[in-house]
Amino acid sequence: MRPEPLAEDEGRALRPQSLGEFVGQAEARANLRVFVQSARQRGEAMDHTLFHGPPGLGKTTLAQIMAKELGVNFRMTSGPVLAKAGDLAAILTNLEARDVLFIDEIHRLNPAVEEVLYPAMEDFELDLVIGEGPAARTVRIELQPFTLVGATTRLGLLTTPLRDRFGIPTRLQFYTVEELEVIVARNAVKLGVAAEADGAREIARRARGTPRIAGRLLRRVVDFALVEGDGVVTRALADGALTRLGVDGLGLDGADRRYLSLIAENYAGGPVGIETISAALSESRDAIEEVIEPFLLQQGLIQRTPRGRMLAQKGWSHLGLPAPRAPGV
Ligand code: ADP
Repeated sequence: MRPEPLAEDEGRALRPQSLGEFVGQAEARANLRVFVQSARQRGEAMDHTLFHGPPGLGKTTLAQIMAKELGVNFRMTSGPVLAKAGDLAAILTNLEARDVLFIDEIHRLNPAVEEVLYPAMEDFELDLVIGEGPAARTVRIELQPFTLVGATTRLGLLTTPLRDRFGIPTRLQFYTVEELEVIVARNAVKLGVAAEADGAREIARRARGTPRIAGRLLRRVVDFALVEGDGVVTRALADGALTRLGVDGLGLDGADRRYLSLIAENYAGGPVGIETISAALSESRDAIEEVIEPFLLQQGLIQRTPRGRMLAQKGWSHLGLPAPRAPGV
């Protein structure tokens, strides 16, 4: 039932293995530490936990760490993989006491599967319908107490009953450059690569606040360092490599810049609706809302208004264009 491993996750060893080793998300980490310890002291399953936030911020990693720190098994699946109620039932009935079950993309659960999840989460019970028509009957199966860890990039798409059943909702934030610098430096050590502090910082500055991207950029910069340099990740080498890869000074890539340019050049800075942007860029609305927009919003490059997306002052400056209606001018 495991989903395909992520391509950029080839270096599994790069994943932090404990809360202590996990850099960033200080608030979430401090809270999780308390909840894990309390569950251990009580000898009970930890409460169900929901991680939400943009892709690549460490939702899966934190779920794995929780299982390790709780000293239990980690089982992993994802919303789209669970097609039928029976698929989930098979997983739930195989859990051992206090295990962690991780469901990625939990906003994409089929409603029939979600129905099965409610009593499982609340009472550790499974109601299965056996047979069809007048002969159909319901059997109740007792489950071992377990911890469900859900992950979603789209909190708004979760149904209220499902959302309400998570005792520990946790929002993950974009990482600061300083945090990413520590992550890049540690990853370089794990990969056995020499990285100067300035080199690590340059990659961190251009990683879109995201550890997964930092890991990917580091690998690419290392490729350039090995082939065209002397193997050492310096600032100049990182800068040259990232520029060649189309990653600009703020860390925006081609898709980000196409998005900004579209609003600036075709819609005079907006407001413009998401469907229009999606059609013009030939990108799915989901990809735009989950991957592109969160970082642009966090950086203050765009604004979301009831009438659509607008380019902010900083967005105009980043494109090197004058803002037509700059506030206060
Ligand atoms: P998500 O599930 O939110 O999409 P993952 O947990 O799969 O993100 O993390 C993506 C990648 O980033 C993984 O390779 C992981 O090792 C790395 N990563 C995430 N958070 C951290 C962190 N705080 N420190 C170091 N590496 C991290």
